[in-house]
Amino acid sequence: MQDYRKGGIFMEGATNFRPCSQKTEEVFRQRDISPTAIRLLVARAMYEFEHAFTLANLEDKLDTVDKSTLSRTINLFHAKHLIHSIDDGSGSIKYSVCSDNCMCEIADLHPHFFCTKCRQTTCMDNSHIPQVELPENYHLSSVNFVLKGVCAQCSKGNSSE
Ligand SMILES: [Zn+2]
Ligand SMILES: [Zn+2]
Ligand SMILES: [Zn+2]
Repeated sequence: MQDYRKGGIFMEGATNFRPCSQKTEEVFRQRDISPTAIRLLVARAMYEFEHAFTLANLEDKLDTVDKSTLSRTINLFHAKHLIHSIDDGSGSIKYSVCSDNCMCEIADLHPHFFCTKCRQTTCMDNSHIPQVELPENYHLSSVNFVLKGVCAQCSKGNSSE
């Protein structure tokens, strides 16, 4: 088990890890990302999402930022494991901020929960991907583990969507 939860940079919330905003530069330093003003702006916007977000969600939130800059920034953050991508079957790739020390390797991965009512996807950070026994000569490179159902908020019948 990793002890990233004790790192102090990320605070464990109900859904995702969210760093204090003043720690963004520190996270960039750890991830070897040069802290340009635009990257800091994009990262801080990402931390504000309660659920996994799409590039379109980010474009809506940061409508003054050039779209190709946003897409390049997302790609850089993804390559540096600041964020991970999720294919939840909704048709658009979603992203979520990685926990501290996550290198997006198989051991770092967690399941995602896709709510069929509000169509939001949430990281199940506290769970691990179950190990699947593979036949000989099958080599695992990634896992996409998506659970589908109704989230806590929609179960209460007060969906904001
Ligand atoms: Zn990751
Ligand atoms: Zn829901
Ligand atoms: Zn996740």
